[in-house]
Amino acid sequence: MVTKMLPDPLADFTTHSPSVSLRFIMFNQRIKVSELLKLDPNGQSVTVMGWVRTFRNNQFIALNDGSTNTNIQVVVELGKFDDALLKRITTSASLKVTGVIEPSLGKGQKMDLKATAIEILGDSDAEKYPLQPKKHSLEFLREKAHLRFRTNTFGAVFRVRHALAFAVHKFFNEKGFVYMHTPIITASDAEGAGEMFRVTTLPMDGTAPKNEDGSINHKEDFFGRSTNLTVSGQLEGELGATAFGEIYTFGPTFRAENSNTARHLAEFWMIEPEMAFCDLEDNMNLAEEFIQYIIRYAMENNREDLEFLATRLEEEEKQLPQDKRSELGLIEKLEFVLNNQFERITYTEAIDILRESNHNKKKKFQYEITGWGMDLQSEHERYLVEKHFKKPVILSNYPAAIKAFYMRQNEDGKTVAAMDILAPGIGEIVGGSQREERLDRLTARMKEMQIPEEELWWYLDTRRFGTVPHAGFGLGFERMVQFVTGMSNIRDVIAFPRTPGSAEF
Ligand code: ATP
Ligand code: MN
Repeated sequence: MVTKMLPDPLADFTTHSPSVSLRFIMFNQRIKVSELLKLDPNGQSVTVMGWVRTFRNNQFIALNDGSTNTNIQVVVELGKFDDALLKRITTSASLKVTGVIEPSLGKGQKMDLKATAIEILGDSDAEKYPLQPKKHSLEFLREKAHLRFRTNTFGAVFRVRHALAFAVHKFFNEKGFVYMHTPIITASDAEGAGEMFRVTTLPMDGTAPKNEDGSINHKEDFFGRSTNLTVSGQLEGELGATAFGEIYTFGPTFRAENSNTARHLAEFWMIEPEMAFCDLEDNMNLAEEFIQYIIRYAMENNREDLEFLATRLEEEEKQLPQDKRSELGLIEKLEFVLNNQFERITYTEAIDILRESNHNKKKKFQYEITGWGMDLQSEHERYLVEKHFKKPVILSNYPAAIKAFYMRQNEDGKTVAAMDILAPGIGEIVGGSQREERLDRLTARMKEMQIPEEELWWYLDTRRFGTVPHAGFGLGFERMVQFVTGMSNIRDVIAFPRTPGSAEF
């Protein structure tokens, strides 16, 4: 380890005297800007490190270290530093600055860091640096995704994303759920949740071993069978729930769906709790409590970032016609979700509302309301949440025909105990159900849907040995991050989006 003899930058925090105590310190003994800004500035000596946002008048460096969007203003006294050094202080150069903090004379910041030593850690050629110190479009920044974290918008989005992810674990841990890591590579698409990406080591040049009928012989493949990337961890999650009682997964999920929308990714993160001894209503209660919990966590811990994002959204919406703008600001919307219960209605009630709506009578839906049994399109879901109820809605008891085989069959013989949660601006954010725990009902349904029992023998064993009522749901993490940050495109809430035709970085 390389150590240097340096004055301890934190030494006089407690004494407020300019004493210099010498001891061996590591290179990285620095204070983060977020912590620095909490101090009362009165001459303490500190070291900060970060990237230059701007350098004005050869005197004022706005330095950012990613801990907050607020920059520390470094003041470079005229004549104190070499011109050669000053020339290297360019946008996105990385610096180590030691100095003393004092109340700022200028407007706009609480303190200045008066530099006593400046070290350039890494130069940045201003001519070549792809981001200018000005506003760039989100589309442009998507092409510079490797650098976009250095902007205020993405700094805020990804700190909020982090907080939400942390809150997910905190919530389930407090409730005694076991965090289960379900496999990424699976052999079943039992759920039929979406198009799958194949996983294979067979050659692609046409020389792969073939069966007599000409199809690829996956017996010769790496796993001795055909495999794919998981579309959901639910089925494995059920195995966990029927032993631990309550589990959750939180991991990457893959869908090769060729839908280029602002809410679909080919690789996204899903949270899937699964609970034994739990019915559809318990499931809805948990989902609602969970969503409110993680939003509250972000509101309490990321206020500054959320306020920044609220202002950003307001600015962005100024370009839209009045009727396309959100009625509530971002913070008000989140507060509203915290303080109001979600609306709960059945699928059947939803169809009635849609059929009777003026929107339908004026033929304004692109997809016609054909009646009971139809699958709801996202425009229908959005009408219900944004125009009719103006709040999150939990829709339940869908027609069996449009839902997966494992959902519990209701006594009416035509619906299943499914629930979807729809959020304003996003549409479906959660999909869940009570699971069919009765072996005979489950296998009958599988037969109807032509799902081979042999493939799911292990899944059916839970129904053979100590079956219990159980339920669970899947929440798309990026859609949740979209909801909380107000970002309208899902590509802007995941670090490196994978979408049809795009897997850069
Ligand atoms: P949608 O109708 O919006 O495509 P889905 O019915 O396919 O959703 P589920 O299979 O129920 O969704 O998956 C559970 C959750 O995962 C959804 O509620 C959503 O939040 C999220 N999700 C599904 N597909 C995607 C995707 N391609 N990209 C990002 N999130 C997704
Ligand atoms: Mn889908």
